[in-house]
Amino acid sequence: MAVKKKRKAPAVENEIINLTNVSKAYSTGAPALKDVNLHISRGEFVFIVGDSGSGKSTLIKLLLRELTITSGYINVMGYDLSKIKHRKIPKFRRNLGIVFQDFRLLKDRNVYENVAFAQRIIQKSNKEIKKNVPSILAIVGLAGKYKAKPRQLSGGEQQRVALARALVNQPTILLADEPTGNLDPKNSWEIMKLLEQINENGTTVIVVTHNREIVNAMQKRVVTLRRGVIISDEEKGGYIDED
Ligand code: ADP
Ligand code: MG
Repeated sequence: MAVKKKRKAPAVENEIINLTNVSKAYSTGAPALKDVNLHISRGEFVFIVGDSGSGKSTLIKLLLRELTITSGYINVMGYDLSKIKHRKIPKFRRNLGIVFQDFRLLKDRNVYENVAFAQRIIQKSNKEIKKNVPSILAIVGLAGKYKAKPRQLSGGEQQRVALARALVNQPTILLADEPTGNLDPKNSWEIMKLLEQINENGTTVIVVTHNREIVNAMQKRVVTLRRGVIISDEEKGGYIDED
């Protein structure tokens, strides 16, 4: 006799990120996140917006397992992040790409080496590196700059190197914490268009930003945080004015 297994239905289809009643308190001050419920499907593009101090970077750090939650449940790509063993964290992170506001490039290495470095960490062969690095540099529009050092590049170019480094290992999820915070409007748009293109190729993309014009123009899902609480989560959303 066949016994039907009872399965708990996932909250959303193809869920890749699940935060259920997540709170995060640092040792000092008010909780940075309070009872956050957030479900993201594979292949989504999501903006996270909110005032400074609203908990955006804390959320990103929880997704990276750079921080642990204080209470609730968090699952990213099938990994229960409150239970994950320390030795499994590197393997988990291999599937994540991350980009920061301040680029964080190796200053004494050229563009090629900055990107190749990410591949060396996961022990790709030189042969693969020689194939993958030029192809990803071409995607971000830096094919001609592979020998340049970061200081010889504009901010927009440096961020494209950081993006290439985040992408070269073909992450499942790309997290970007204010990637255009140090860029002028033209370069900001170029980075956002690249993020959109990456998403169209199947990567789940989560972008923290303050750029109201871009958020309003791009018509993506927008999650708004205020003082650690999600106050709105809308498909094809816009930037909510505080005050
Ligand atoms: P955002 O990225 O939206 O500006 P953060 O997530 O960085 O916000 O910060 C949320 C809140 O948590 C703020 O009140 C901030 O001061 C506090 N906070 C962030 N990091 C720490 C820390 N390491 N220790 C104590 N408080 C922190
Ligand atoms: Mg922040």
